[in-house]
Amino acid sequence: MNYLEMDKKSLEQRFEVIKGMYQDFLSANLHLDMSRGKPSAEQLDLTTDLLTAVKSERDCLTQDGTDCRNYGLMDGIPEAKELFAEFLGVTPAEVIVGGNASLSLMYDCVSWGMTHGYLGSTPWSKLDRVKFLCPSPGYDRHFGITESFGIEMIVVPMLEDGPDMDMVEQYVNHDPAVKGIWCVPKYSNPEGKTYSDEVVRRFAALKPAAEDFRIFWDNAYGIHDLYDEGDRLLSILDECKEAGNPNLPFLFGSTSKVSFAGAGVAAMGASEENIAYIKKLMFYQTISADKINQLRHVRYFKNMDGIRAHMKKHAAILRPKFEMTLETMEEYLGGKGIASWIHPRGGYFISFDTLPGCARRTVQLAREAGVALTPAGASYPYGKDPNDTNIRIAPSYPPVKELRLAMELLCVCVEYAALEKLLG
Ligand code: PLP
Repeated sequence: MNYLEMDKKSLEQRFEVIKGMYQDFLSANLHLDMSRGKPSAEQLDLTTDLLTAVKSERDCLTQDGTDCRNYGLMDGIPEAKELFAEFLGVTPAEVIVGGNASLSLMYDCVSWGMTHGYLGSTPWSKLDRVKFLCPSPGYDRHFGITESFGIEMIVVPMLEDGPDMDMVEQYVNHDPAVKGIWCVPKYSNPEGKTYSDEVVRRFAALKPAAEDFRIFWDNAYGIHDLYDEGDRLLSILDECKEAGNPNLPFLFGSTSKVSFAGAGVAAMGASEENIAYIKKLMFYQTISADKINQLRHVRYFKNMDGIRAHMKKHAAILRPKFEMTLETMEEYLGGKGIASWIHPRGGYFISFDTLPGCARRTVQLAREAGVALTPAGASYPYGKDPNDTNIRIAPSYPPVKELRLAMELLCVCVEYAALEKLLG
């Protein structure tokens, strides 16, 4: 029954029941962590043989004869450039294979914009105002990077098939202070939405007021399908080239959720002109990334078919967790009118909305009963969700049994906070 249509007395009776259920959880002394989208131990075990994929000193030579144990090849070993070009949907000349984290590459790109500027433009730090568009809900660490540089962040609502492009065009095409936009175009964090062809084409056709505007295209979940039939995403670089805007996008990706989180290989893609410029800046920063790890990844996965086959094993572990999470929500909250959620077909998160003004309280109740969730508001710039509704659920890490328990508690907390609100 929809709680918004229930009389006060019935709500009060229900609240007593829910308080009792919450009390039982308090006594159960839980200690569960669902705060970040981490792969589970079972997923990490899938890639154990990667650790020994480079077997001896003789095995350390790349296809061009470079010894990976030594300095050199700052932008990646040739076979890794080939693999990650395909991974990102660009050519080997349009890729830099980096270290262990795509987030570091994103940070560097914002940082270089601030200190050096792009392709001859004024460094952003010398300007009075610098703004980034932030499709929200979005990835908290993106917003953390721009906030740390004092860049003004503007919330752009996420619609069904990507950011509100009318608003994006309005800002980008008319305000020269807008220098970038954060995008997670496939199975977005946290909503699991994939940008439609029309959205990608509208991005490619932007006519930025700022000559150094860049699209930060973080395709972190580009191959992370939960089902055999995955979402399709157009190639942003191809579309940008076609629209005469080759320098607009910076693409990012990594194997953090393919091999090992934080110990995989990250890469970025961009036009050859952007890549050449970035390589000049990078030259002062590093002599080379960890080429042995790059080689291990190539030896282990061999090619994109190898990576895609491997992702099916991840999906087989993740799918039951996502489905159980969604089933628990339906079982506990379906039809009550106090919550809504999205059914993602890939990625690492389920985006959940409480009644307005209830997300913080829900997360607090869960924390006090021993379940850590991503802080409410984290998916918005400055940690401020204007309606206080969004909670990011990360089902990947806990074993299924613990996850079920954590979800039951979360549902009880959602109802607790909703009833508190409705009863005023
Ligand atoms: N980008 C997005 C959208 C993510 O959700 C995450 C991790 O959760 C990352 C990047 C981090 O990637 P990496 O480990 O390559 O730094």
